[in-house]
Amino acid sequence: MPGFEIFGDEERKQVNDVLDTGVLFRYGFDAARKGHWKARTFETELARRLGVEYAHLCASGTAALSTAMAACGVGAGDEVIVPPFTFVATVESVLMAGAVPVFAEIDETLCLSPEGLEAALTPATRAVIPVHMCGAMARIEEIKAICDKKGLILLEDACQSVGASCNGKALGSFGKAGCFSFDPVKTITCGEGGAVVTNDRAVYDATHAHADHGHDHIGNDRGAEDHLFIGANYRISELNAAVGLAQLRKLDWILETQRRNKAAIKDAISTLPGITFRQLPDPAGDSATFLSFFMPDLETARQAVKSLGAAGVDGCFHWFDNNWHYLRKWDHFHAMKASSRLAVQCLANCPDFGSVETPRSDAIMQRAISMQIKLGWTETELQTRVEKTVKALKTIG
Ligand SMILES: *Cc1c(COP(=O)(O)O)cnc(C)c1O
Repeated sequence: MPGFEIFGDEERKQVNDVLDTGVLFRYGFDAARKGHWKARTFETELARRLGVEYAHLCASGTAALSTAMAACGVGAGDEVIVPPFTFVATVESVLMAGAVPVFAEIDETLCLSPEGLEAALTPATRAVIPVHMCGAMARIEEIKAICDKKGLILLEDACQSVGASCNGKALGSFGKAGCFSFDPVKTITCGEGGAVVTNDRAVYDATHAHADHGHDHIGNDRGAEDHLFIGANYRISELNAAVGLAQLRKLDWILETQRRNKAAIKDAISTLPGITFRQLPDPAGDSATFLSFFMPDLETARQAVKSLGAAGVDGCFHWFDNNWHYLRKWDHFHAMKASSRLAVQCLANCPDFGSVETPRSDAIMQRAISMQIKLGWTETELQTRVEKTVKALKTIG
């Protein structure tokens, strides 16, 4: 999934446009910027690419999640349903909004399941944040149907899945708002950056205002703008947006390359006994940043990552044993330790994260392995990888 692999002349050209004018701020300075509006152009192109009405860039994916929650009115006193397999940022944002994260089970899509969501509902549930992990989709149509029926706010964390879709509709465009990350290890990168997308004009207006101290961004005179409310600063700089704009223009090529590389490895290992694959509600919509598969059990999964590592097949993750992406290993969450007083206060209302039980998710994550798909592999490197992978996995199970 790494956009950093393809940093080139296009990125340098976009950044130099900004350096040549010296206008690093995304708003105002109309004459001095000589027609360069990198953040604004990125937003227009991203919205078009994803088939949504509005996109707003933020300083990070985490900032995008916080902004989306504020813009949708999710916060103090609310319960927000999240999966235990995600990056910690999803849950941090819920806490920083003063809301209570409620962990619900995943299924073999490696994402929040509709059944897990139903089981976690309480009268205090206000929002649901499915996370489209590792480049592909949750059963988002079913999740959306439940949210619509129950009157819940659907916010999609699509930080890892830009360019992926489900039955022709972009991930991130199903809910009231969708969030993306363009951090240094995501599919496309700004260095640091993120985005909120929505089809709802009121959510969009609250989004760009919240991310810029409440400014309404009406008219050309920043000094004369009104303030809609007390907000924050989650703005992106023109330099970061410039890098991301060049990367966004490579997205179709990125997806094509990832899909081809992933298919070669998947085809080769699909004949091995004992190996099954992540469930994909719409295989054609997978952005193919990872190849995710299941071993028969915990022990064979641990053996598999070890033997893949020994064979020199890098970029293989057994998330169950990984301390960034699965709740089981988040010791600081189990200890209920937070830096901000607001989060500390909020944690007092949360269930003890150390004793949250997600047995279905455990049973799936114990067996799951994801192999990162790179863009820069030559044909020979890909073939070598295929052979080494088959050899390493053949001996197990
Ligand atoms: C990367 C990521 C985020 C946070 O994005 P940043 O830009 O790093 O703040 C949130 N959720 C998920 C699932 C992510 O992978």
